[in-house]
Amino acid sequence: MITNNLKAGCFSDVADRVTSKGWTNKISDAVNKIFGTSKKYNITFYNRSAWPASYPKFPEDYAGLTWARYFAGVLKVDVYLNDIALANASQEHIAATLLHEIAHGIIKYEGKDGETSDHNVMYQQYITEMTKGLQEMFPAIDPYDADALAYEGLLETIWGAASLKAFPMMWKNRQDVWKAYLNGTKGTKCK
Ligand SMILES: [Zn+2]
Repeated sequence: MITNNLKAGCFSDVADRVTSKGWTNKISDAVNKIFGTSKKYNITFYNRSAWPASYPKFPEDYAGLTWARYFAGVLKVDVYLNDIALANASQEHIAATLLHEIAHGIIKYEGKDGETSDHNVMYQQYITEMTKGLQEMFPAIDPYDADALAYEGLLETIWGAASLKAFPMMWKNRQDVWKAYLNGTKGTKCK
C-alpha cells in the first residue's frame, strides 16, 4: 500500500504527484508496482513531526529520512519529509527528496541494502531515473538543474568522492543548484 499521511497542502500534493501512475521514470513506476496494491509491502509518507521520539534524533539538515524494516514478513517503509528544513523549498526540490527517499524503499525491497550502502546503489542505478522523473513532472525545469538535484545526498559515496576530487567545480555548481531550489529562489513555489 502507498499511504500519504502528510498534512494536506503542498508537500502532500507533491507526494501524490510523485507516486501517481503513468510516469515512465523507474522510481515512480516501481513504487506503484511494488507497493501499490500489496499488503506485504507498504510505504507511508509522514511529516517530520511524526518521527517517533524513541528513534535516534532526526538530523536537522536532512531533507528527508527513510526508516525501512521487515516485521513479521511485512515490509514497512516510512518516509519522513523534513517540512521544517524544506519550508521554503520549491516543488522540484521536494519531488527530488521524495524520489530519493522512495529509492531507499525500493533498494530495501530489492535486498540491495547492506552489502554496499544504499547511496552507492542509488548513484549507479537511480540518478538517471531521478533526473527523468523531475523532467517528467516539471517539464520546464532546466535539464542541468534536474540532473544536479538528482545528485543531492550522494556526494559521500565511492563515486561521489572520486568525482569530487576530479571535478570540484562540478560539485560546487551542483551545490549551488541544491541551495537555490532549497531556498526557493529557483523552481516552482509551494503555495
Ligand atoms: Zn539517502
